[in-house]
Amino acid sequence: MPVNRDTALDWMRGFAKEMAEHRQELVRLDTAIGDGDHGTNMDRGMRKALERLDGAEQADAGAVLKTVAMALVSSVGGAAGPLYGTLFLQIGGALAGQEEVDLAGYVAAWRRGLEGVQMRGKAEPGDKTMVDALVPAVEAMDQASDLDGALRAAVEAAEQGMRATIPLVARKGRASYLGERSKDHQDPGATSTYYLYTSAAEALAG
Ligand code: ADP
Ligand code: MG
Repeated sequence: MPVNRDTALDWMRGFAKEMAEHRQELVRLDTAIGDGDHGTNMDRGMRKALERLDGAEQADAGAVLKTVAMALVSSVGGAAGPLYGTLFLQIGGALAGQEEVDLAGYVAAWRRGLEGVQMRGKAEPGDKTMVDALVPAVEAMDQASDLDGALRAAVEAAEQGMRATIPLVARKGRASYLGERSKDHQDPGATSTYYLYTSAAEALAG
């Protein structure tokens, strides 16, 4: 399936469903190394996003993602709301005005999203954040030769990146206040990012 308005809507609906289904898991992960609100934050934000998507028609995939971005920024406090807002705003900006997006355009949009997240949050790979799932996923997509393969590779890479956060000491966000005690826990934001890729892969599966 191509990247277009309808598959972007499917993607965002799927991500909202994942955030609702995995809310407790994300809360549990964030309780261990943060303040326990990541699951409720993301679930609430994506519910708001769906309300807005249902409330008006979007012209293209870019408009879908920008609508979600605005909903997240205005309804989710804390670190993840603005960071996911930036991710979706940048991906949406890159896709705007295109009815259909090819693999190169799609990967370029993800790169721009990742750059936005890093510009905003200043996290590098290894800091135990969502960047640890995003970076390997975008790299994996870059090596792929078709969209389906790109998404499959991204899911696998994001999962590995997510698991690889377990032994890390957090250097950004609330978890960094724990220092060494942040070790041996999986990062909640890297986990929600993994679900962002599983929902993208499902929406675009041929
Ligand atoms: P808060 O930490 O404000 O309670 P959340 O719990 O919703 O916000 O989100 C926490 C997640 O946000 C972390 O698990 C991490 O992945 C991500 N995060 C925090 N700070 C940064 C940052 N500077 N850059 C990238 N991601 C970050
Ligand atoms: Mg939190």
